[in-house]
Amino acid sequence: MPESLAVRRADVSNAITRVHEVLDAFASRDHSGEILTAIRHFPAREAQVADFPEWVNANLVSAYAAKGIRRLYTHQAAAAEAVHAGKNIVIVTPTASGKTLCYNLPVLNAVLENSDARALYLFPTKALAQDQLAELYDLNQRLENRFGVFTYDGDTPADARKSIREKGHIILTNPDMLHSGILPHHTRWTRLFENLRYIVLDELHTYRGVFGSHLCNVLRRLRRIARFYGRDLQFICCSATIANPGELASRLVESEVEVLDSNGAPAAEKTFVFYNPPVVNRALGIRRSYINESARVSQEFLKHDLQTMVFANSRLHTEILLTYLQQANPRLPGKPETIRGYRGGYLPNERREIERGLRDGKIRGVVSTSALELGIDVGSLDTVVMAGYPGTIAATWQRAGRAGRRSGSSCAVLVASSSPLDQFMVRHPDYFFGNTPEHAFIQPDNLEILVNHLKCAAFELPIKPNEKFGDVDVADLCARLAAAGFLHLAGENYHWTHEAYPADTISLRSVTSDNFVIIDITGEPNVVGEIDFPSALVFVHEKAIYLHGGQQYHVEHLDFKERKAYVKRVDVDYYTDAIRYTQVRVLEIASTLRNPAAATAKLRKTSSALPDASSSFTSLISTTSFASSYSHGDVQVRSQVVGFKKIKFFTNENIGDGKLELPENEMHTTAYWITLERPLLESLPFSVSERQSGMFGLLHALESVATLLLMCDRRDLGTAIGERPPDAGQESDPIVSLRMEDAVSANAEFFEPNLYLYDAYPGGIGFSEPLFCAHDLLMQKTRELISFCECEQGCPSCVGPAGDLAPRAKEAALAILDGLCA
Ligand SMILES: [Zn+2]
Repeated sequence: MPESLAVRRADVSNAITRVHEVLDAFASRDHSGEILTAIRHFPAREAQVADFPEWVNANLVSAYAAKGIRRLYTHQAAAAEAVHAGKNIVIVTPTASGKTLCYNLPVLNAVLENSDARALYLFPTKALAQDQLAELYDLNQRLENRFGVFTYDGDTPADARKSIREKGHIILTNPDMLHSGILPHHTRWTRLFENLRYIVLDELHTYRGVFGSHLCNVLRRLRRIARFYGRDLQFICCSATIANPGELASRLVESEVEVLDSNGAPAAEKTFVFYNPPVVNRALGIRRSYINESARVSQEFLKHDLQTMVFANSRLHTEILLTYLQQANPRLPGKPETIRGYRGGYLPNERREIERGLRDGKIRGVVSTSALELGIDVGSLDTVVMAGYPGTIAATWQRAGRAGRRSGSSCAVLVASSSPLDQFMVRHPDYFFGNTPEHAFIQPDNLEILVNHLKCAAFELPIKPNEKFGDVDVADLCARLAAAGFLHLAGENYHWTHEAYPADTISLRSVTSDNFVIIDITGEPNVVGEIDFPSALVFVHEKAIYLHGGQQYHVEHLDFKERKAYVKRVDVDYYTDAIRYTQVRVLEIASTLRNPAAATAKLRKTSSALPDASSSFTSLISTTSFASSYSHGDVQVRSQVVGFKKIKFFTNENIGDGKLELPENEMHTTAYWITLERPLLESLPFSVSERQSGMFGLLHALESVATLLLMCDRRDLGTAIGERPPDAGQESDPIVSLRMEDAVSANAEFFEPNLYLYDAYPGGIGFSEPLFCAHDLLMQKTRELISFCECEQGCPSCVGPAGDLAPRAKEAALAILDGLCA
């Protein structure tokens, strides 16, 4: 055995020992057994390999051999064969399983066989495209530079663009650039479009919600232009593990897609630990700071000389953790820093230097935002610590995959914050470790989104009234756009009439283009970001604390007419939370299911998993005809921000408030809602204010669980409670839906309230029907979230902070759920 190998093996077994030492130390300190809520070991797995298919060009086989790749993993071979057979595919494998070869191999083979063949690779970010460029350069050199590969994005110099358009066999870009930089200028890209064959969509699971709905329309435009040049496109997609990769892929590309999800890549032994910071105040549900605990766990690994990556969910927390860890590991005189930070905002050179330092082991610890979650090669680390749940199961596995990518033993630790999602995850490890429930949803036929792309399409090529563009009436939409002066009918077809081209003003990351610009006026005025109209009212009203990449800004002035928010950098210990009044009106019910069995089912006693408090009253509910129903459909949402609260970081104390006068905002969207019928409410042994509190508490918990099931951000869903309208389409009594803290003091009781979860985007983004279909799961998981919470009377981890609610809100919420669960 060569000496270096021997040393490395010794290192590896040494690392295993050290990981186990640290874990043992954690376990011995966890007397109550409440801190380490899960320790899962995943044994090492052998590679399953296959030969290169016979049709692969010999030069390409040698190029891979020169890189040390002589055989393929079985999934790579299967992907290559499926692409060769002309199929659209989606490859679903974990991080570091060699997925890039799955598309590079068949694409490069096609280029080597036919030097006219062209491919377009789409990555959700510029950084990922850069990373792929390096891999393709390397292969290209081994193939005597026989193909052209370029990135094409906002940073591409103008003088390089022409030659890229001519010589690029493979163009690496992002959806935004395809939308505004390539499709509108397709006549300059004739070389590409006349020969375009493959489209690669990597990180497919990131194309969900608004972004995914836009991308689907961009791909409609892409296919339309390709057809114009006589090309039929083949799609190769890669996704992290989600519940519906095939459905998402075929919705995005609007064609059949074959799912390849058996992984042949080897894996090293891995341990996954869930760490719940100890409780300091049980009644209020307050735990020790998860940031401090994350620092502590990380330091334990670093002390044992285990190379460690720490993930934080914000820029601010990244910097705080970095400070703690650098203080604990002071730099030696004359030596470089061994603990580094990594996030957007660092210069490219510095980032490359840190990536190198991680690969060669000179850097022992790095604290990062999600910037290091995807792609970027930093070699294999020993341990990963996550300060807070990253928001989705897919992202958590992606972060955990940063440790032990190739050999040796590794460990990933998730340190939970007090938020409902974090607490739910660490207390229900099987939910996380079982088959993933996360679905990615899109709604490409959202009219706000679709019409914008129809305009772009008209600019790109005249539209025939009988053309198909999504599942809408194209002729009717074109006629309306013509009436509005955007299009005109010349001969058979509709043409774009304006001078400016439409793509420039349409962002793929938001629904409407009516945005506010945020300007930092601390020094020289400087644009720091943009925010859409409805969010602006909530996040950048005057006196709000606006957080952007971890930096806090105080909003000095909101200029409505000019759509500008002027902010100044500050450093305060609170954030603001807007007080919003929301009224929802049902316009059309798409579907309703009633729940007649609910009351009788209660007698079945589902109490084994429940604390005594909740089971004592379940039997009090009498048998009635209908207890509840649930529906989805179209709604109108009117909301107004009327004030704000100042909330202290970490303790979530309310430390002041203010009034605001802002215009009302109105939108049509889609919603899922639950109706609590009168007999159910009357059967509850609680006072009116307790019932009301219970409803709002329940809605708070429902919202958390819904974001979990929908893989969406909390901001993607809105909530409200309102009186059930007598009949669909009729105006309901103007009992304004309130926030829970306001409801407690309100005297009016709802007679038969609707609990709404609505899409927070005009037109809806496809969340409501899936929620309707997942109703039973939503009820079951919400019940688990609330009933397993250790607090006494409600806390931010379940039904909301105790101070905002009537004393028995948690009990009441559980009792309502009992009435809802058949
Ligand atoms: Zn709680």
